[in-house]
Amino acid sequence: MSTRPEAVPARAGQPQPLPESADVYRTLLESTRAIPWKIDWASMRFAYIGPQIETLLGWSQDSWQTVDDWVSRMHPEDRDAVVGFCVSQSQAGVDHEADYRALTRDGGYVWIRDVVHVVRDASGEVDSLVGFMFDISERKQAEEERMRLHRELEQLSLTDGLTGIANRRMFDQRLETEWSASRRSGSPLSLVVLDLDHFKQFNDAHGHVAGDDCLRRVAALLRGVAQRPRDVVARFGGEEFILLLPDTDAAAALALARQCMERLAALGIPHGAPEAGPVVTASLGVGTATVASTGEASDFVAAVDARLYAAKRGGRNRIEVLAD
Ligand code: GH3
Ligand code: MG
Ligand code: MG
Repeated sequence: MSTRPEAVPARAGQPQPLPESADVYRTLLESTRAIPWKIDWASMRFAYIGPQIETLLGWSQDSWQTVDDWVSRMHPEDRDAVVGFCVSQSQAGVDHEADYRALTRDGGYVWIRDVVHVVRDASGEVDSLVGFMFDISERKQAEEERMRLHRELEQLSLTDGLTGIANRRMFDQRLETEWSASRRSGSPLSLVVLDLDHFKQFNDAHGHVAGDDCLRRVAALLRGVAQRPRDVVARFGGEEFILLLPDTDAAAALALARQCMERLAALGIPHGAPEAGPVVTASLGVGTATVASTGEASDFVAAVDARLYAAKRGGRNRIEVLAD
């Protein structure tokens, strides 16, 4: 390092201004891996697209004439959503980005992220769109691999991702254990199956996020009802839950089922869809297996589930009990 400050140039370490030369910009644009482009809004024609497009997709630079060339070279599954989104954002004058699969000349697809800036003229009208296409294939592959692992993990897992309670797999395992234990000891084993009423309409009316939230609240409620150490509260299917209640006789099981209904009513989650009541309700099936019960554990579950459907047929928001 110099000990003589006067020897240090005044602008050292600061970027020099770029020369105002189009050639420099062009060289810069055409040497980046991102592919620059410009579309004239009035004519919907490409005013420019970087030559790198040919390296990436195989279509020559001059084959990109109009927006239709862009649309037709998009994966059919992505096309409607992406084109609709980009057009509406552009019309609204909003910068945006979209991911889609672009067709290559040899018939393959490459994942692209298109980042779009809307350029307006002096009067504020949209003049053109400029943007960059990025090749995000590697990122997408990593994302797909992550999702695959996530699914695999979920398969191995014993808890339900949405609600945190036991999943079907855990339920099945615990059912077998408790079924055998009940056979041996002669203690009663009960099940309560609960299915939310008109839940499809709930989603339609309030959205899936509210639907998911409702499922989490119901799961927490059921956990509060079946609290003994060997009790299992599981998500059986989409909006169907099941309580496995070892050492629980028919009267106790019915009392717990009633508690589920009462607490759900007390939660007062607004429903209000045409066929539903003002708040979210559920239909329940209840059954108790004793030493006298014949068949397998799965027959028992099926028999209780059938009571649930009887409750649905009977008008919902009610409990049906399996006869001894
Ligand atoms: P029914 O009273 O006869 O049970 O009518 P339903 O609409 O509840 O039953 P159906 O089986 O026709 O539809 C179940 C709906 O539950 C479908 C779906 O919208 C919703 N659902 C299932 N799983 C989930 C989930 O994980 N999240 C959300 N938000 N909704 C779900
Ligand atoms: Mg339902
Ligand atoms: Mg259901």
